[in-house]
Amino acid sequence: MKKILITGGAGFIGSHVVRRFVNKYPQYEIFNLDALTYAGNLENIKDIENNSNYTFVKGDIVDETFINDLFRLHKFDGVLHLAAESHVDRSIEDPLAFVKTNVIGTMNLLNAAKNQWKGNFEGKRFYHISTDEVYGSLGSTGLFTEDTPYDPNSPYSASKASSDHFVRAYGETYGLPYVLTNCSNNYGSYHFPEKLIPLFINNIINNKPLPVYGDGNYTRDWLFVEDHAIAIDLVFHEGKNHETYNIGGFNEWKNIDLVKLLCKIMDRKLGRVEGACEELITYVKDRPGHDLRYAIDASKINKELGWKPSVTFEEGLQKTINWYLNNQEWLQSVTSGSYKDYYQKQYS
Ligand code: NAD
Repeated sequence: MKKILITGGAGFIGSHVVRRFVNKYPQYEIFNLDALTYAGNLENIKDIENNSNYTFVKGDIVDETFINDLFRLHKFDGVLHLAAESHVDRSIEDPLAFVKTNVIGTMNLLNAAKNQWKGNFEGKRFYHISTDEVYGSLGSTGLFTEDTPYDPNSPYSASKASSDHFVRAYGETYGLPYVLTNCSNNYGSYHFPEKLIPLFINNIINNKPLPVYGDGNYTRDWLFVEDHAIAIDLVFHEGKNHETYNIGGFNEWKNIDLVKLLCKIMDRKLGRVEGACEELITYVKDRPGHDLRYAIDASKINKELGWKPSVTFEEGLQKTINWYLNNQEWLQSVTSGSYKDYYQKQYS
């Protein structure tokens, strides 16, 4: 029996990872540790909550004593660390919250794993899930590779870069067996609607303005979240120790083109006249320090582990839009309360 700790499993990507591991590996005991911040929601993993190989633990990775006690109690063999403050705009408002969770929280997990494993690393692994934003911004050409120097521009990406460095340093200094992945923008079900794709789907459904930053030319690579979960499963089980893998969708879109594509699909699905949705597009004041373009070279994970995305962007978007249309109760529940105040502050 392997004991696996997954952090942040009530969030967007984490819920897909927890679901995959619980269903695919009945021989593992999966512990999902999550503080249930505004971004964490137990509804995201309701379908697996009664599985016998699954335990939910509510707790904060910033609480060192709590983390040490948890490791002492359960003696985990593996850690998949996804818990994070994850929204760039929020990091501009409150950078320290990002240092606490993303840097101190990661340090607490690293220390707890190191102290529990005590140099006996047989069958042990610490997997840190990170972002391509640590590499900073590309110009109009080129791709991020695993050798691209770190050059973070937002407090979010700086905090993730810092945690990546600590993970690597624990590997070099203490021999901690780690793997690290840097992934591009994800989209899919259970995505909190402060992020571009679910925000726009929600606003289109409700006929609300579609706030596009700057001139709309910011470019991102998009990956279907279930394909990210497949990649995470593969790297956890087959990735080489002390290695980084970039994960991406081979799927670059300018924000404005992506919004227009979403509009086209949604007008059709909602039975609205063609072009109705595009009238909702509203250009808003740019985000400070906004990176122009991210694009990933995912050839290493493709060549070494045989991973590539399993769905096209069209297929992934159709699945995602259908999910949001069929789960409007979920959307309403997560967009009420404190999110309403945040949204009004951000876009008014
Ligand atoms: P998310 O914001 O949807 O979920 C984060 C989860 O972490 C939430 O459930 C939240 O409750 C939990 N959490 C936050 N602070 C915590 C704390 N102090 N202690 C315990 N739990 C806490 O994030 P996501 O989009 O699912 O991202 C997951 C990970 O993947 C993050 O590390 C992020 O940096 C990384 N990542 C995200 C993307 C993306 O496109 N979303 C891309 C690449 C990498």
